[in-house]
Amino acid sequence: MTNCIFCRIVAREEPASIVFEDDRALAFLDIRPVNPGHLLVIPRQHFASLNELPLPLGGYLFQVGMKLAAALRKTDLRCEGINLYVADGAPAGQEVFHVHLHVVPRYAGDGFGLRFGPNYGKRPPRKELDELAAKIRAVL
Ligand code: 5GP
Ligand code: ZN
Repeated sequence: MTNCIFCRIVAREEPASIVFEDDRALAFLDIRPVNPGHLLVIPRQHFASLNELPLPLGGYLFQVGMKLAAALRKTDLRCEGINLYVADGAPAGQEVFHVHLHVVPRYAGDGFGLRFGPNYGKRPPRKELDELAAKIRAVL
């Protein structure tokens, strides 16, 4: 038996409240939701991080997330906005190391949000931004 909780959900070895399933992906309710209706979209196959996830599959998970976002807006759940969110790596807040896309219904005053760090808000000079852009372009 795998020790990955999401692989166990795929294998039906752990319970989950599933809303979507096909040959590539599975989507189910988060067990500790930010708001009611908070969903997770995962690939059926185990990939620990975005680096390992094939690009087309990443695109597909996003498509499923978009479909679920549209579905959430059709329910009577409070959903005035949506966050699509991926935590990739422990410093980014990843706790379950099986890639997943959060689909989080949002409403005014729900209290959820990302906290800005000390680097936020300072506008670097254009030269610095251009140098960073060049550095990233070089490895694409
Ligand atoms: P991360 O911090 O890795 O982006 O998010 C992991 C998410 O998985 C958390 O929101 C957490 O509540 C959810 N989660 C952890 N264990 C389980 C589980 O056994 N079942 C479900 N449905 N969600 C889980
Ligand atoms: Zn897994």
